[in-house]
This record gives sequence, structure tokens and C-alpha cells, in this order.
Amino acid sequence: MSIISQLPELKAVLTPGCQILTDHNDTKFVEYLKRWTDINLKVPGAIVLPTSESDCQKIVQWASKSSVPFVMKSGGHSEYSTIGSNGIIIDLSLYKGVEVDADSGTATLKGSILTKDVATTLAKAGYFTALGNGNTVGAIPYFLAGGASLTPSITGFGADQILSAHLITAKGELVNVTEESHPELLYGLRGAGQFFGLVTQLVIKCHPLHALGNDQGTIWAGSFVFPLSRAQEVASVMKNLMDDDRHATAGLIMILAPPPARKPCLVIATKYTGDPKHAPEAYKALYELHPLVANGASMPIQNANDAQDALGAKGDFKRFGIIGLHRFNQDAFLKTIELWEELVAECPDAINTAFNFKWDSKPAKKPDFDSAMSLHDVRYFQNNLIWHTDAKSRAKVDEYNDKSYALMRSEDTEADFVDFPPGRAGPVHRRYRGGERIARLKSLKREWDPTGVFTSELLE
Ligand SMILES: Cc1cc2nc3c(=O)[nH]c(=O)nc-3n(C[C@H](O)[C@H](O)[C@H](O)COP(=O)(O)OP(=O)(O)OC[C@H]3O[C@@H](n4cnc5c(N)ncnc54)[C@H](O)[C@@H]3O)c2cc1C
Repeated sequence: MSIISQLPELKAVLTPGCQILTDHNDTKFVEYLKRWTDINLKVPGAIVLPTSESDCQKIVQWASKSSVPFVMKSGGHSEYSTIGSNGIIIDLSLYKGVEVDADSGTATLKGSILTKDVATTLAKAGYFTALGNGNTVGAIPYFLAGGASLTPSITGFGADQILSAHLITAKGELVNVTEESHPELLYGLRGAGQFFGLVTQLVIKCHPLHALGNDQGTIWAGSFVFPLSRAQEVASVMKNLMDDDRHATAGLIMILAPPPARKPCLVIATKYTGDPKHAPEAYKALYELHPLVANGASMPIQNANDAQDALGAKGDFKRFGIIGLHRFNQDAFLKTIELWEELVAECPDAINTAFNFKWDSKPAKKPDFDSAMSLHDVRYFQNNLIWHTDAKSRAKVDEYNDKSYALMRSEDTEADFVDFPPGRAGPVHRRYRGGERIARLKSLKREWDPTGVFTSELLE
């Protein structure tokens, strides 16, 4: 039976504000189909927009009864909130919210609430939490997939903030997942949470703004620009700076050609957490290299990502290629620059691509519980932003990205390889490290989603 013929039955049980879009030429359908990346983007049989938790539950129950495959979409920043004409998208855009409970220092996130909305609401109440650097990223999927935050040494990862969740299971049941009711499922949701069900609500831990190390609730952000010809001396200074845990420095060493001039350069995009008056001292070695540009200022934490808003634009072929690393290999970094130059020479449409090395000088704070999140010992990441416009360059750009991984991993054996969870390309044991962790997650998957309604991850 076609999906279209089954939709009236679904419409009959949903509340009136919900929408079901099926006309591919309708401007609303086109708008809701847009994603951050066009990689693997498919056209679904329908886009269904619930307005409440109970609508979400009814959609999953209907899909389960009618054997209609589906995916959820919150902020639309992944390659996975897409499905072909045999399935539907449960688009949570019309169901969202964030409520702060100042007494308990917690917040409840609902549906498709975005990172920036969470940051702003928390700051108004005198709090912040372990959010990442994409204002338009869906906050719930970010927390569920691990959540590399702006403040790892103070807060840990996003997943470490999860206190409880409402989850709709493959059978369409609504489960309140707490430490008391379902400790094992909570373990899984903290880092591998996109694979067990539809999470309608998350309760997360918040931190008072003064925990940022200043009374203003600010974080310091700066950038230092160097010509590529100075890469060797910059790499040598950065090696020491990134290993100096007296200061909470963090950021990206980026190889890119920014608009409008498109002149290839190294941009070191930095953050400093603590009293902002110490930031110039923390980055003294970079200032002493006399960069082409050096600027920095402290800003309210909820505004820390605003300068990168252009990165959140939808469309084109984009991907964050992220792997965890155990060290900064200077030689490999210098060879990565040559690789980036070859890539943009061979694929000029990939000029927006940036090969980035990410660091945190201090390790992430470890929570006092075990979870699916296994990257607390990883301070370094190769964090490439792949961005091209011509579909014909797809394979070639991926090939260069893989080569850059191979360079940065050249001192590692396969057993040391670490992948960052929101990506799903490599084997699961690189994302969820340790035999016991994998066994627990696979057992959870067999218990809660044995037929792979919410992807086949952890089933193979
Ligand atoms: C510009 C940019 C910046 C980023 N910055 C960071 C960062 O700083 N730190 C970091 O850790 N990551 C970062 N990411 C990665 C991002 O956190 C993940 O890709 C995240 O999963 C995207 O969530 P989304 O809601 O925007 O995407 P979507 O594509 O809507 O959803 C992502 C996945 O989660 C599933 N999903 C959606 N809603 C739900 C739900 N309610 N319950 C269960 N599953 C659901 C979807 O089906 C899909 O598989 C960034 C990504 C981009 C593009």
C-alpha cells in the first residue's frame, strides 16, 4: 500500500495544528526538506510535523502499525534526517521549548529546540551548559550524540549533562528514562542516544554563569592569521601552547582560503575560559609571532558562536569529518597543508573546505557515572569542514579528507583510532570505545529496537 493512501488514517488521530506535506512542488515541502548538507539528501513520501509529544507518539504508533519507515529531524544538520519516497520524515520544527528550573539548576529541552535558544534562555536565568559551536544545531540530537562543548574542562561533554529523558520506543510506548527507572537505557542515551527511540524531552544539568571563571558569564574569543609560508614556526609554537594546561585555551588551527580575497592562510580561532584579563598572557607566544591579524574580545557565552553563523547555512555538499587524535604531529600537519592545496587545485569548487586541527589544553571533566560517551581522554581532533558545490567532486573530496586522516593518524595503530560519534562512517568500536561498552550498547539495542526502526547502528 502506498504511503499517501495511508496518511488519512494518521491525519485523523493528530491534533489540528499538525501538518502533513506530500506535494514535492509545494514551497513549504521544499523549505522543510532543506538540510545543512545536500550529501545523500533524499525526497521522502511525506513530511509530518507534530506539535506535541502525544502527536509524536501517535505518529510512531501509526508508522509501526503500517510498517512505514521514518526518520526524525530536529535542526537538520546531519546527513541522517533524510529518507526516500518509501518513508516519512517526522520533522519536529513545530514542537520545541526550553524551560529552566533555577531552583534545581536544570533545564527541560523539548523537540527541535536549537542550541542558540537554549544558550540564550539559560543565560537569562543566570546559567549555561555544555553546548557546542553551532547556533542552529538541534540541541537534543547534539546532547544525545555526545556533544563536544565549548567548556569541556568545566562541564564535560554534552552527554554528561543528561539527567533524564522522555523516549518513544519502536513499539510507540512513551518511557520516562531516569536513573531510577531505566539506568541502563540512560547509560546508552548519554552518547549513543540517536539509536534507541524518538527523544521528545531531555532534562539537562545547568551551571551558574560564574563557573566560567568570571562574574560576567563571558568567554574570550580571538583569531590570529598567518600566511601559509609561516606554518612551521606557527606549528612549533602551537605544539607547546596546546599542551600547556595552566591556561584553559581551546580552538582550531584552520587551513583555509576565506572570502573575499580567497588567499590561503592559517587562521587560529581561539577561545579562553576564565578571567579574560589572562587571555593575552595565555596566547602570548602567538602575539609574539606578529601575526597578520590578531584580535580578541570577551563576549557573553550565549553569543560565542554568533561570528560563525554563516557556517550554519543550508545547502551545498558539506560534512564535518571528525576524528579523535592523541597528539599534534607537526610534520603531519605541514603535509596536511600540502594536501589541502592539492585538493583546492584539483577541485576549485571545494574552496570553502577547511582542514582544521582542534585542541583543548585541559582534559574534559569526567562525570561520576559511566556512559556511552568514551572520549573524555581525547583533547585533540582533526575537525575538517568539507564544503564543495559540484556533485562531481564528491568522491575526490572524500578521498582527500581520508588522506588527511591517514596523515594525522600515521603514528597510531588501528586500535588507537577514535571517531567522533555524530558521524556514522567508521566501525562503531571507534566511536564507543571498549569491549564492555559495545556489548552493553548492543544489548540495549536488541532490547529496545531489535528490528532497527531507529537505524541499524549497533545491530550488526
Ligand atoms: C555547523 C555545525 C556545527 C556543529 N557543532 C558541533 C559542536 O560544536 N559539537 C558537537 O558535538 N557537534 C557539533 N555538530 C554536530 C551536530 O551536533 C550533530 O550532527 C547533531 O546530531 C545535529 O543535530 P540536528 O538536530 O541539527 O540534525 P538532524 O539531522 O535533525 O538530526 C541528527 C540525527 O538525530 C536524529 N534525531 C533528530 N531528532 C531526534 C530526536 N528527537 N530523538 C532522537 N533522534 C533524533 C536524526 O534522525 C538524525 O539521525 C555540528 C554540526 C554542524 C553542521
